[in-house]
Amino acid sequence: MTSIEGKVAIVTGAASGIGKEIAFELSRAGALIAIADINLDGAQAVASEIEQAGGRAIGVAMDVTDEAAVDAGTQQAVEALGPIDILVSNAGIQIVNPIESYDFAAWKKMLAIHLDGAFLTTKAALPHMYKDDGNGKSRGGTVIYMGSVHSHQASKLKAPYVTAKHGLLGLSRTLAKEGGERGVRSHVVCPGFVRTPLVDKQIPEQAKELGISEEEVIRNVMLGQTVDGIFTTVEDVAQTVRFLCEFPSAALTGQSFIVSHGWHMQ
Ligand code: NAD
Repeated sequence: MTSIEGKVAIVTGAASGIGKEIAFELSRAGALIAIADINLDGAQAVASEIEQAGGRAIGVAMDVTDEAAVDAGTQQAVEALGPIDILVSNAGIQIVNPIESYDFAAWKKMLAIHLDGAFLTTKAALPHMYKDDGNGKSRGGTVIYMGSVHSHQASKLKAPYVTAKHGLLGLSRTLAKEGGERGVRSHVVCPGFVRTPLVDKQIPEQAKELGISEEEVIRNVMLGQTVDGIFTTVEDVAQTVRFLCEFPSAALTGQSFIVSHGWHMQ
């Protein structure tokens, strides 16, 4: 394994849920972390928790859909911690509705956060990874996109989410090719359902839309296709991200890793 001790990581959407645990896990591996989130108070709270645990982290205000905010937040991270080595593009939301009543503004918001956000943060981080390392080679780096089992299959009520999560596979594979000779690796990590605020909000919404109980949403819709009826955890996802960041070569690049208790095997 390659150590990521002293490497600089930006994790978007890290004030909560999966991103927060990724920030902690990369910090435990010795990385310096920029917690980039639209919720600055939350980002700063996570950063100070990491610092209290002995790590190095800062909270950065960033709306990933806004190019100027992404560039400013990235610059702030670079000034405080150094050039970017790792980007985890994780910020995301969920809005469920059937296509025929899906509000166009909500569709655009979903694509903006999941796809524009991934593109803009990548574009801002890459110049640091492509920079000369002083020996005539690029510094290199790792970019991880937070996909989903919905990067590979569909569910009712989630048209823009499924569309965007499938789209991340294309962005990641393109980056793997463009970045290959410059030492940049790229992956999509694809979790099954994880109990975070994003999922807790969906349970009553899906129950209402599908006309079933909340317990049935959990048992049948969320966990019905797992091998053991168990939720994936934030720790499962964070450890996968750490493994990919520490992996020593581009033998693994352009891949998607499904972390889902067997829901959708490839
Ligand atoms: P969460 O709601 O716990 O956290 C999402 C974070 O993103 C929040 O801190 C929020 O403030 C931030 N955010 C929202 N909009 C933003 C914006 N425009 N700019 C910057 N930050 C923004 O959600 P989570 O479950 O931890 O989800 C994180 C990622 O994991 C998302 O991309 C989601 O699609 C993906 N995912 C989640 C699950 C799951 O079951 N929870 C499964 C598969 C994939």
